[in-house]
Amino acid sequence: MKENNKPGINTICVHTGEVKDEQFKGAVSPMYMSTSYAFDGVDVKRYPRYFNTPNQEMLCKKIAALEKTEDGLIFGSGMAAISAAMFAFLKSGDHVIIQQVIYGGTYNFIVSEFDKYGIEYSFTESDTIEDFESLIKDNTKVLYIETPSNPLLGITDLAAISNLAKSKDILTMIDNTFASPINQNPADFGIDIMLHSATKYMGGHSDISAGAIAASKEHIAHIWNTAINFGGNLSDQTVWLLERSLKTLNLRVKEQTKNAEVMALYLEANSDIDRVYYPGLKSHPQHELAKKQMKGFGAMLSFELTNGIDAMDFQNNLKLIKPSMSLAGLESTTVSPVQTTHALLSEKERLERGIKDGLIRFSVGIEEPKDLIEDIEQAIQKAKK
Ligand SMILES: *Cc1c(COP(=O)(O)O)cnc(C)c1O
Repeated sequence: MKENNKPGINTICVHTGEVKDEQFKGAVSPMYMSTSYAFDGVDVKRYPRYFNTPNQEMLCKKIAALEKTEDGLIFGSGMAAISAAMFAFLKSGDHVIIQQVIYGGTYNFIVSEFDKYGIEYSFTESDTIEDFESLIKDNTKVLYIETPSNPLLGITDLAAISNLAKSKDILTMIDNTFASPINQNPADFGIDIMLHSATKYMGGHSDISAGAIAASKEHIAHIWNTAINFGGNLSDQTVWLLERSLKTLNLRVKEQTKNAEVMALYLEANSDIDRVYYPGLKSHPQHELAKKQMKGFGAMLSFELTNGIDAMDFQNNLKLIKPSMSLAGLESTTVSPVQTTHALLSEKERLERGIKDGLIRFSVGIEEPKDLIEDIEQAIQKAKK
């Protein structure tokens, strides 16, 4: 199809992968809850764990269209997607290089499971391409990255990673959860496999757990072979809810991104804040790189409260913004990485990763920035006392 004949992003969000209601011509996809389908005279034997019920199959088309890939797969959680992708391509004796700063659950998965299966792994010491290159060995099969990364919003160079990997016949995987397909399409830069916690922006309403993978037909078929054995499929009721959520993905994420830009500028100008980490700020060390590879700078940011303001005190005094473990909902939330996501790391490990006690990760929602600013102002004043 010619580029200009492709449907626009909102059209994809609303329509791609609809299940047609031939019987009643209803406006939305009917929900097929059957776990049992006829096996006589059909091309495909449908079964939920084969990821091919009508709703599952159709939603995969929407995921693929959003990430500009040929195919997709949806899972019961982000970790189900990440683990299926890794185990599909890694076997005993293989080596994988992983970016140092990644989602805590992925880190735990790697350090607690890979040894059991004889899969070797190395973590980089930074996001730089030189660091990845220096770790490549003859048995390296996968480069695994996350950009923007959690919680300091570091940016990894997608094109450089992809070129390096291609020159050595290595597969690339990215956790694209933070940017969402609205703000970043890694496939445009040659990354092979896009992974998502759909519990975050794709779901967007803090009420469903899901995961997704987008990749070529060939790679998805390969992952499918492993995924049916691990059984991490998404229930059809949740598939349907995810389809409903994705209809507003672009509207939500655009608005959240716009708000995050306003909040980042406000926080940067606030004398009670030491530092703001947001790829959209000129002060971000990789701002130019972010501009090159992101369509928008996203709605996640982090900031450091100045010495003396306690992170927990600050959060306990918030009235509108909810201190919360998760992120990416329509409602603004904060988390203190030291107390939660990175609590298992030692103080030394945290400092090596640049995570200070006063650090707050901020997931910006769709509320008006003036209301968010008012809430932050009053919480800072109370926490100062
Ligand atoms: C939440 C999250 C995951 C894990 O997803 P689940 O749906 O909780 O399994 C992976 N990566 C990132 C960046 C996340 O934020």
